[in-house]
Amino acid sequence: KLTIRNLHKRFGELQILRGVNFEVFSQEVIVIIGPSGSGKSTLLRCINGLEGINDGQIFIDEAVIEYTPASLQKVRQRIGMVFQSYNLFPHLTVMENLLLAPLKVQKKTKAEVLPRAEELLKQVGMSDKADSYPSQLSGGQQQRVAIARSLVMNPEVILFDEVTSALDPERVRDVLDVMKALAHTGTTMIIVTHEMGFGRDVGDRIIFMDQGVIVEQGPPEQIFGNPQEERTRQFLRNVM
Ligand code: ATP
Ligand code: MG
Repeated sequence: KLTIRNLHKRFGELQILRGVNFEVFSQEVIVIIGPSGSGKSTLLRCINGLEGINDGQIFIDEAVIEYTPASLQKVRQRIGMVFQSYNLFPHLTVMENLLLAPLKVQKKTKAEVLPRAEELLKQVGMSDKADSYPSQLSGGQQQRVAIARSLVMNPEVILFDEVTSALDPERVRDVLDVMKALAHTGTTMIIVTHEMGFGRDVGDRIIFMDQGVIVEQGPPEQIFGNPQEERTRQFLRNVM
């Protein structure tokens, strides 16, 4: 279980997150929506320790995240993240990209990790590209490799930050299908997306953020069908 309690984050004088509170339970799929600049990416980056925080706490199970290098390295093994830009290492093959962290960070042997890595490539439909380099793949294929790479450390939660927004429309479906399949196998996920139909489809709970706070959260039927807050209604009118 992940607990975000009273999270505050500012950049200089700019207050970005102003007291964010929510919990994520095992196997839950949380979808975060909200206008540009509302703090969604900042929130995800705080959760996996890419950004320090100014106030509040983040707990994994009952343990609070400490902002020391050793503790943060553990946090990043337990909380995976996939970004809008695929961030694959260009000089490594697909398979080498998957093996890198388990070999370097977890000090596992190749023989230990290979079966899991092969299984994951199969799961995202990329088995035949194991020996290709990222530049030889389409954006959607690279993103599916990035998803497989985030899974190889067996994280307890995976964060997705607008992973389809840089893709050609016809590639988006492949990536969303992979994420949907993951959600159905009980992976705990926090997904920031502008794809409202997908969010409604895949989310157990929808969080609407604006100006650094959670305005409203609830099941998809509530948020998309019967939002309780005027600000939520206004946002959805503009994007749907
Ligand atoms: P989008 O939907 O466009 O991705 P977002 O909800 O993800 O938006 P964030 O990227 O979290 O929004 O940004 C929230 C605010 O924080 C913005 O005003 C942004 O300019 C500011 N911000 C983000 N990162 C930094 C940084 N490293 N330094 C200063 N300001 C930042
Ligand atoms: Mg963002």
